[in-house]
This record gives sequence, C-alpha cells and structure tokens, in this order.
Amino acid sequence: MLLFKEPDPTIFDPTQSDPGLADTVRTLGAADIFACTQCGKCAAACPLVLTGFPFFNKRLIQTILMGFKELLLNDASIWACQSCNRCTEVCPQGIDSFGIILAARRFAVSEYALPAMAVEGLRSLYETGHAVHLAEAGPPRKKIGLPEKPPTTLASSKALGEVQAIMRRTALAKLGIIPMGPTGESLYGITDKKLW
Ligand code: SF4
Ligand code: SF4
Repeated sequence: MLLFKEPDPTIFDPTQSDPGLADTVRTLGAADIFACTQCGKCAAACPLVLTGFPFFNKRLIQTILMGFKELLLNDASIWACQSCNRCTEVCPQGIDSFGIILAARRFAVSEYALPAMAVEGLRSLYETGHAVHLAEAGPPRKKIGLPEKPPTTLASSKALGEVQAIMRRTALAKLGIIPMGPTGESLYGITDKKLW
C-alpha cells in the first residue's frame, strides 16, 4: 500500500519557481542550505530512500534551492523522516541535512500543508501526551478493560495543564491547526486553507 503519493513531475515548471523560497526556508533552520553541492551522500545514507520514499535530502534541497514550492508542499516524504541523523553525519560539507528536513516541515506547517495523520498526532499530543495517533488501538484495549489510550504523564491534570500552556505559546496556536482554547475551540480561528 502506498502511504504517500509520488511527486507530480509536471510541477517542475520553471515559470512556477519561487525565487524567495530558499531564503524563507533558510530562516526556518536551514542556515547552511546554500553550501550543498548536491553530492548525494545524504540520500545514500538515508534509510527512507532504501524503503522507496522519493524525495529525500538531496532532492529536497534541490527543490528548495530551485524554488519549487508546490512540489515541496505536495510531497509528504519530509513527514516520514525518522530523525536518525545519518544524513548530517555523512555530509562532506558539514551541512545539517536533518535540520533542513525540520526547516522544510516548519515551512510546510506555516503553509498548512501537513498530512491528516500529523494533525491527529498534534491533537493527540495536546490532549493525552501521545505524539503518535493511536487510531486502531482504542477498541481492542477497551474490550479487555483498559483505557482506550495508555495513560502518559499527562494523566496528571497538573502536567497536562503545563504541557498545554507551553503548546499554546508556540506558533502552532497562532496557526489554529488544532483546537487549543479552554473550551476546545481554535485560539486564533482555523483559516480556510485546506489541510491535507
Ligand atoms: S551530503 Fe551534504 S552536500 Fe551532499 S547532497 Fe547532502 S546536504 Fe548536499
Ligand atoms: S534524519 Fe531523516 S532524512 Fe536524515 S538520514 Fe535519517 S531519516 Fe533520512
């Protein structure tokens, strides 16, 4: 089963290039992106390339440098990164390649281009402390008398309040992607932009 769609090659249209994209992503944590020589060592070391994800490190960096914003936002490979840091370890230029993935994610979130499973993960983190959305685990757990979600530190109302207060001070609250108000409403109002 394909979890993510292949990038649409027709989006490689030079007339659609956004010349400011690289500078924008650079300010989000990809400070050394312009030093990339496209050698491909990061891609050779990335475990997700071996599993068939089409869009890792080298290609991602090239896409950002060439300003192909729509291609970047329409491919979910960046959300599959496992944070292993192998790409950064092997880069001969000393580039924090993993940091570029994180910067690309920040940019995608600011454009509301994140997968539904990421939204559910954020909601679950805010409500229960589970960063991974446990979609299938609830009913079988309930059947044998367990709570639908395993309790985390956030089972303590004090800890829950502290974590939620921290999350409300992040850019996430301003974007209104998940409801974070005291009665479950969006703090700043969800925009009419479409999430995946
Ligand atoms: S290893 Fe470094 S220089 Fe080579 S493509 Fe990756 S980020 Fe660029
Ligand atoms: S940190 Fe992410 S992008 Fe880098 S090698 Fe690991 S899985 Fe691949």
